[in-house]
Amino acid sequence: MDNLADAFLKLDRKEIALLKAIERGMRHCEWVPAEDLMAKTRLSPKAVIGGLSKLLAKKLVFKTKEPYEGYAIGFAAYDLIALSDLVDRDVVLSLGDLLGVGKESVVLEALGRASSPPAAEMDAAEGAEEVADELPLAVKFHRQGETSFKQIRRVRDHLADLPRCAWIHAARLGAAKEFKTLKRLYPEVSVPRPVALSHHAVVMEHFGGTELYRVDLEEPEGWLEAILEEAAAAWRRGIVHADLSPYNVLVREDGEMAIIDWPQAVSRTHPRARELLERDMKNVVSHFQRKYRLDLELEEALAFVLGESDEGVKEDQKISREKKEDGRPS
Ligand code: ADP
Ligand code: MN
Repeated sequence: MDNLADAFLKLDRKEIALLKAIERGMRHCEWVPAEDLMAKTRLSPKAVIGGLSKLLAKKLVFKTKEPYEGYAIGFAAYDLIALSDLVDRDVVLSLGDLLGVGKESVVLEALGRASSPPAAEMDAAEGAEEVADELPLAVKFHRQGETSFKQIRRVRDHLADLPRCAWIHAARLGAAKEFKTLKRLYPEVSVPRPVALSHHAVVMEHFGGTELYRVDLEEPEGWLEAILEEAAAAWRRGIVHADLSPYNVLVREDGEMAIIDWPQAVSRTHPRARELLERDMKNVVSHFQRKYRLDLELEEALAFVLGESDEGVKEDQKISREKKEDGRPS
């Protein structure tokens, strides 16, 4: 990706409106004809043609002539659409450096507001302190479906045969799932605080720290225990990460940690939940066995995550029984 912030600054409102209209049109998996864009954006034919030629030159929009003349966007434009929405909503105030390029995402640093109180409340507030502080954010642009997109582009010589929409849906769904899971887990489980969702972008707290696979821990036992405790807490909330590994754990020098990267999480009731939990635990335990020579067995780790939560479930049942008994008319 070229610099997203630069690309954003070079867009005018008409171009953004056109990108959004193309994206909406693409949800039906078709090339979007120019006439539709005129209708949807209420821009004049001249403005649409002018805007499209600028977007084509910037490679933010692709054009086909067959079977009819139509337009489509790719991930670069989709990122700009999400960013424009997040800026309009005052979630993102400024963009920073690239934080990471993962298997299925591009993550950028940003600054935002911890919360944006409604204007009326702000007027009523006594001092300027009421305006929330700037908050370091991580904006994760999902990229599910990108590989298939690129591969097909390589082998086909013209764009008319491209699957033009599968990736949009895949990326949007991935982001929505991740955001929902973070909201379900935070703050009981150590995950970055979820802040906002837009299109295929998840905005969360910038946690800082370093991925587990890159650090040399001084007290590995304590960290392993902490990770198992978080996995147990997620299980109690009904969730299995399903891609847990030393790549998806951030550890900080202040002793805090967070588990990241949740789009593929499954519910505890999923038929493969146990199997996926076991795989997660294996990834974690074998890392500590290999790198730190810790001798915790996989079975023990699993029993810890499941066992603790079984007690939790019993506790829940006991509490709800007691509540029922209390509430019973005498
Ligand atoms: P992927 O599916 O692409 O691996 P991740 O959620 O693991 O996506 O994010 C990729 C990288 O971005 C991470 O390895 C990490 O370095 C960085 N990152 C992601 N979320 C955060 C965050 N909330 N705070 C700090 N860094 C993050
Ligand atoms: Mn990851």
